[in-house]
Amino acid sequence: MQSKLFIDGQWQDSRGGGLLDVINPATEQVFHQCVAGNAADIDAAVAAAKAAMAGPWRKTTGRDRAKILRAIGEGIERDKQKLAEIEVRDNGKPLAEALGDIGDAAYCFNLYARYAEELDGRQGAQIDVPDARFDCRLRYMPIGVAGLIVPWNYPLLMAAWKVAPAIAAGCAMVLKPSEFTPLTALELARIAHEAGLPAGVLNVVTGFGRDTGARLATHPDVRKLAFTGSVATGIFVATAAAQDVKSVSLELGGKSPIVVFDDADVEQAVEWVMFGIFWNQGQVCSATSRMIVQEAIAPKLIDRLSAEAKKITIGDGMAEGTLLGPLVSAQQYQKVTGYIDAGRREATLVTGGGRPAHLNTGYFLEPTIFADVKPSARIWTEEIFGPVLAVTTFKGEDEAIALANNSKFGLAAAVMSADMARAQRVAEAFEAGVCWINCSQPNFLEPPWGGMKKSGVGRELGTWGLNNFLEVKQMLTYHSTEPWGWYLK
Ligand code: NAD
Repeated sequence: MQSKLFIDGQWQDSRGGGLLDVINPATEQVFHQCVAGNAADIDAAVAAAKAAMAGPWRKTTGRDRAKILRAIGEGIERDKQKLAEIEVRDNGKPLAEALGDIGDAAYCFNLYARYAEELDGRQGAQIDVPDARFDCRLRYMPIGVAGLIVPWNYPLLMAAWKVAPAIAAGCAMVLKPSEFTPLTALELARIAHEAGLPAGVLNVVTGFGRDTGARLATHPDVRKLAFTGSVATGIFVATAAAQDVKSVSLELGGKSPIVVFDDADVEQAVEWVMFGIFWNQGQVCSATSRMIVQEAIAPKLIDRLSAEAKKITIGDGMAEGTLLGPLVSAQQYQKVTGYIDAGRREATLVTGGGRPAHLNTGYFLEPTIFADVKPSARIWTEEIFGPVLAVTTFKGEDEAIALANNSKFGLAAAVMSADMARAQRVAEAFEAGVCWINCSQPNFLEPPWGGMKKSGVGRELGTWGLNNFLEVKQMLTYHSTEPWGWYLK
């Protein structure tokens, strides 16, 4: 099977680009080929978006756009099973998780339909100024052509987090999915087109980051860059944005802590710690990959985690009962196993660390736990992005907070304790954009999402996500007949 690019409402061939193989990580087999687009494809897509922004799309109200957003949400729901199965083959994740992602993507379009309607109500809102001779009103307008660059860990959902608010705001856009998981972005283009989105508003160009992503980031007609991915690429994108004074939002990596106090319910802690690191094969930006556990319960909790990790069913994401699928790619497998090798030198391997004995092909890895990890260890400081938990112990609350915050990242942090006052205090001390108390990872689309420090710039989701794609202007009217007084007295 082969797919094309979606530009200006049509399926198009590349302007001289090649093809890229799409590999099922459970079988290591190529099951599809996508266009490996090039700079000329991006230029055509940006030109289509620019033309769309100059046409009737510009005149639409939030209410008009809400209808289309809801129709896209319905299309995603209607095609849920197909989309989830594509995601499993593309990314490797278990089908039940993929179905959850697709449901969240549909919800995201419905939520931004609501925000698009509310935007109409925000237009013309008055701002109090301390001089009665003036009337100040706010007016929101779409920021312009948006470049949306997304990673492979939640392919459709990460696209939805950007496409839905960009449509709600009235932008036209070019979406660049990851070269590892390009297929559901193309499906989204089909669904959006069927839902009545005008040609040129959503263009999808598949391809490698260095060819397509880099051109999108540097294109002079793109006014907004919304990027999710690694810190290294985020720095490139932010630098490109700076050259052209584009607006930029960055959702980058993490190395999030989970602090477990000795009064925490051990079974609850086992559940949340496991979910926090093994869900989606640990390929989660907010994964709580550093466990900071109070000394008194450390041996018991580590024993329980080790016993439960051994029971996890590993296999093809399409197989019934699979909890842990393969990692996304050969490159990711190599990266994570490299960290496991470092971990064997730096710390004590508690469980896992290898390929499951019954799986000879596919990028499968056992859930892995390291204890006695020092704060200087690479497996403690660097984002692994795989099913690898690093554990250290603490004595008192201040030490736990210091260990948690001693990171270049600041995306998420969790605390487990029966003492709610203490849990609240610790969560308030965390330097992270997303803080969990007595849980890890649950996420709703209404609150803001994003990180501090090297985990990013800005916030997505909720109304914060919508504002990313809006310009706001003040309209100040002088309605007095009194002279201003500088020249006319
Ligand atoms: P990546 O940076 O390698 O790639 C992300 C996207 O950028 C891909 O589409 C890629 O093709 C593109 N790209 C690569 N080089 C580029 C360039 N020079 N110019 C423009 N675009 C380029 O990241 P990845 O490996 O796909 O994703 C994993 C990373 O994403 C992890 O670090 C993870 O923590 C992060 N992530 C963060 C969040 C969040 O919300 N903070 C969510 C998901 C993933």
